[in-house]
Amino acid sequence: MRRAVIAGGLEVSGGLSRAGLMAGARGQGAIFTLHHVRPKPARAFDPNAHLEITPDFLDVALRTLKRDGYRFVPLEQLPDALAAKGGPVACLTLDDGYRNNLEHALPVFERHQAPFTVFVAGGFVDRTHTLWWETLADMLATNETLRFDFGRGLETLQLRAAVERQAAFNRIAAFIHSHDEAKAIASLNAAALDRGIDPLAITDRLTLDEAGLRRLVESPLASLGAHTISHRSVARLTDAEARREIEESLQRVEAITGRRPLTFAYPYGDAPAVSARDHRIIADLGFTLAVTTQPGTLAARTQCSLNALPRISLNGHFQRARYVSALASGIPFRLAAG
Ligand SMILES: [Zn+2]
Repeated sequence: MRRAVIAGGLEVSGGLSRAGLMAGARGQGAIFTLHHVRPKPARAFDPNAHLEITPDFLDVALRTLKRDGYRFVPLEQLPDALAAKGGPVACLTLDDGYRNNLEHALPVFERHQAPFTVFVAGGFVDRTHTLWWETLADMLATNETLRFDFGRGLETLQLRAAVERQAAFNRIAAFIHSHDEAKAIASLNAAALDRGIDPLAITDRLTLDEAGLRRLVESPLASLGAHTISHRSVARLTDAEARREIEESLQRVEAITGRRPLTFAYPYGDAPAVSARDHRIIADLGFTLAVTTQPGTLAARTQCSLNALPRISLNGHFQRARYVSALASGIPFRLAAG
C-alpha cells in the first residue's frame, strides 16, 4: 500500500521536477540510505528487494543529483555544510557494511568523487550476530513448510505459493519486532540450522569483516559510522543495554579505523526503533550526529535535531532516473504521510 502511494507521489513530483518546480521543495538537501549495491540476482522470492540497488542505478542517481545542483559532502561535515548555506547538499550512507559496498559501490563513488559513510554493526563484523531478514528470506525460498514457535507452541507455515512465503516473512518479521528481539532471532536461527542453513555463514558471505573494512577505508572517500553490535531496535533495549550497544559499536569502529566515529545510524531507524532516551545517549557519547530512516529532507541547521536526522532511501523498487530528483524533493513522503 505505502509503496503504491510513494510511487504515485514519485510520478507527481517527477512531473514537477521536469517542469522546474522542484527547487523550492527540496530544503537544504538530503541524506540518502543504501544497503546492498550489486547486480540484480535472479531470485524468485525476494522480500528484501527494496534494500538493494544496482551499481548502474547508483551511477544514474549520483549523476542526477549533480545535474540537479546537489553538492556531495561527507556526512560528518553536514552540520557545517548546513550552516554555510551553500545550496543543497547530498550525503550518501550505506547501512550494515555489505561486501558489495566495497566491490560494487566504491568504484561508482570514486567515479563521481562522492564521499560516503558505511554504518557497521560490530556483531556482523565479528561474525557473532546474524541478519535475520536474510536468514529468513533464504529459509522461505528453499522450503515448502516451516515450523516456527510464535509463543504458543510450534506452528507449521505453508510456503508453496509466493503469497504464503510473503505472509510468513511478514508474520515472523512482526514477531521479531514485537517480542524480545534476541530471543526471537535465536529461535529463527535454530529453525534455520535445523533446515541446513547456517545463519552465521550468511553473515560471513554478505558482510565485510575487519580486513574488508580496512580496505574500504583506504579510500579517502569512505568513512565508517557506528550501528550497534547486535543490530537490535535500540528503543526497545533497557537503558544499560542501549548505552552498551551504542558505546561498544563506537569502540569497535575506532579499533578498525584508528579514529572515533562521529556518526551513528539507529538499526531499522523507524519511529518505534528510536526514542528520546536514545538521542540523549548519542549526545552523551559525543557523536556529531545520528540518522534514522524516517523519510524527509534536511531543514536549516537551527531547525533540525542532529540526534535524529531523516534520510531518504534509494529503494530497489524505484530504480528510475526520473525518481531520483523526485525522492530528493521529499514530496512523495509528504504525499504518503498526508
Ligand atoms: Zn541496519
